[in-house]
Amino acid sequence: MAWDFETEPEFQEKLDWADAFVRDEVEPLDLVFPGLAYHPLDDARRPIVDPLKQRVREQDLWAAHLGPELGGKGYGQLKLALLNEILGRSSWAPIVFGTQAPDTGNAEIIAHYGTDEQKRTYLQPLLDGEMFSCYSMTEPQGGSDPTMFETRAVQDGDEWVINGWKFFSSNARTASFLIVMAVTNPEVSPYKGMSMFIVPTDTPGVNIVRNIGLAGERSDEGMHALLHYEDCRVPAENLLGGEGQAFVIAQTRLGGGRIHHAMRTVAVCQKAIDLMCERALSRSTQGTKLADKQLVQAAIADSYAQLEQFRLLVLHTAWKIDRYRDYKRVRKDIAAVKVRTPQVQHDIVYRAMHIHGAIGVSNEMPFASMWFGVPIMAVVDGPTEVHQITVAREVLKGYKATDDLWPSEHLPKKQAAARARYAELLEHEVANL
Ligand SMILES: Cc1cc2nc3c(=O)[nH]c(=O)nc-3n(C[C@H](O)[C@H](O)[C@H](O)COP(=O)(O)OP(=O)(O)OC[C@H]3O[C@@H](n4cnc5c(N)ncnc54)[C@H](O)[C@@H]3O)c2cc1C
Repeated sequence: MAWDFETEPEFQEKLDWADAFVRDEVEPLDLVFPGLAYHPLDDARRPIVDPLKQRVREQDLWAAHLGPELGGKGYGQLKLALLNEILGRSSWAPIVFGTQAPDTGNAEIIAHYGTDEQKRTYLQPLLDGEMFSCYSMTEPQGGSDPTMFETRAVQDGDEWVINGWKFFSSNARTASFLIVMAVTNPEVSPYKGMSMFIVPTDTPGVNIVRNIGLAGERSDEGMHALLHYEDCRVPAENLLGGEGQAFVIAQTRLGGGRIHHAMRTVAVCQKAIDLMCERALSRSTQGTKLADKQLVQAAIADSYAQLEQFRLLVLHTAWKIDRYRDYKRVRKDIAAVKVRTPQVQHDIVYRAMHIHGAIGVSNEMPFASMWFGVPIMAVVDGPTEVHQITVAREVLKGYKATDDLWPSEHLPKKQAAARARYAELLEHEVANL
């Protein structure tokens, strides 16, 4: 029997260690250094954060998803999913464990498509946690539809010259390099006419016009850059993968990124359920505990069931990624996960917040950022609708139209066919009546 829902005891021990470590040592960083997780370490933070990273390494949990050749243990996506169910509680935890977006995805594509020189220069420091990176793909005039991208890269001798605008390039202001998607051949289909480039952030012509903040952040705290690439020259060897390969690379990158967000969403929802249950057991009104009221019980039960369903979908998808090692083959599953991610977070966080009453909507509880994570999860790495289209398209591939006016399960037709099949027997029965 191959189905197995158990975690190996040795890895469970590591998860138990990670759970206690994140709660006791890492979650406090969110409170003392809020919003600074993606900033290079300064003299104040390094003496605190470096020893924490070292403890993660000693547990063999650093960059857990990567193979040994890249400094990880090759645990794969399923074990990363189990770990991310813990790390997603804290914005600092992915940094301390070497699994933060967008660096995981960027490392993955450099490992897969990069030259030896690119790996030496960009990948190794990224894996060591000593530099940040940025993925610069979305443009102001279109994010969901990459065929609308206009940023151009033109070859000039042994250099590429990049011109154009990019929008919402996360962490550009703290990144050492950007991975930029640009049109290199407008004569062919966009699926074959775009390429990826590694662009060091200090290259002349990389202009950060604004660091856009998310709603609720102060305007000088934004991490999502509007970038103008203006006659930005990079050597020919900064092309990542082959010319025209950007779409293939983007699919590798974004597939991983989407499932990693979902894994961390399991953690956010579990934290919301933990808080919801604690409150329900602690608070009394109109003579009984909230936990004794049936409508509150319904909220708890629905949240539990919804998270279990979602978690199994995420884990099964992670298992498929490990099993098939082919993101194209698990496209439908990843897209389905992507569609469910904001919905499950929406429903559970709302219930948890609501059951807390006024304090739930205050800035004295952690619900606000969980709540605002909902519309972010619905848009980041492509909006829900685009992924619904993917799921539907992939599901429909398993079906064909009938060549009849009536559906194949139309009962009169089926009944006639069934009667014809057993005609002899039926005649015999009628004759015996
Ligand atoms: C927090 C955050 C971080 C991000 N980080 C990065 C990053 O690091 N690098 C990067 O390149 N990009 C990044 N993005 C951008 C993100 O990938 C885009 O926002 C996303 O792809 C959607 O593009 P858009 O914003 O242009 O929305 P649009 O494409 O304008 O879509 C807007 C809305 O139109 C509707 N819609 C779109 N297409 C369809 C369709 N086919 N059918 C039906 N309805 C549709 C949906 O309701 C959708 O939400 C980030 C975004 C966020 C919110």
